[in-house]
Amino acid sequence: MPNCTGVEAARIIRQHGEFLSTPIVYLSGETNVALQVDAMRLGGDHFLTKPFNPVFLNAIVKSKIERYRALRRTMYHDSLTGLLNHSSGKHTLDMLLSSVAHEGGFLSVVMMDIDHFKQVNDTYGHPVGDQVIRSLSWLLKQRLRKQDIICRYGGEEFLIGLPHTDAEHAFAIMDRIRQDFSQIRHPHGDSHFFATASGGIATYPLYQNGDALIKAADEALYRAKHNGRNRIHTDED
Ligand code: GH3
Ligand code: MG
Ligand code: MG
Repeated sequence: MPNCTGVEAARIIRQHGEFLSTPIVYLSGETNVALQVDAMRLGGDHFLTKPFNPVFLNAIVKSKIERYRALRRTMYHDSLTGLLNHSSGKHTLDMLLSSVAHEGGFLSVVMMDIDHFKQVNDTYGHPVGDQVIRSLSWLLKQRLRKQDIICRYGGEEFLIGLPHTDAEHAFAIMDRIRQDFSQIRHPHGDSHFFATASGGIATYPLYQNGDALIKAADEALYRAKHNGRNRIHTDED
């Protein structure tokens, strides 16, 4: 590197958030341990002295990347369902919204919440309640497209983002999911029980940003609950 040292390059790379996960391995002739430690302190992941074994370098980079991926999964995903967690769901919605705003078109946001879930927990126990949450998340994953956002927004509450989908179309999709969810038999002992969910929909461009969409979808969800549950409302209902 004719114009800067490896340590300088590492410091610059580490100033950028998007490169925080990039492994940095120094390949150097430097054998002074104090200098090596300094280099590591300034953002390096590993230090190999030349001549180095390329198989060893490959193994180091691979293990760093795998560990980072596992870490990212736990940071951005919910452990019970594997769906996006609250903050990454909101963030992904904002990103999706700016790309839809750029291309033009609709984006529908749905807030879906399991009905009388406290009663499910109280009657059948928390672990059974967890299975009910997983079954709705599984159904959403099965039915929605790859480009849709599915997020576990809270305990038994899901945030869904459907790009290029108007309110009418979003209603048709979500109402079908609602009906199918209400027919799932949740086993308990020798018997089974049923659960239902309600949803509220709000659509861009009528609401212009993530917070306004979530708030309007939440209000529609509230009306769906108020009107008897096991139903989907749009912001116009
Ligand atoms: P509503 O029909 O109005 O939505 O009533 P609800 O009983 O579903 O609503 P409420 O918000 O009162 O209850 C939600 C319950 O969900 C309370 C909480 O103990 C439970 N809960 C939250 N997170 C989890 C979880 O991860 N697993 C289980 N089993 N229960 C959870
Ligand atoms: Mg609920
Ligand atoms: Mg709730």
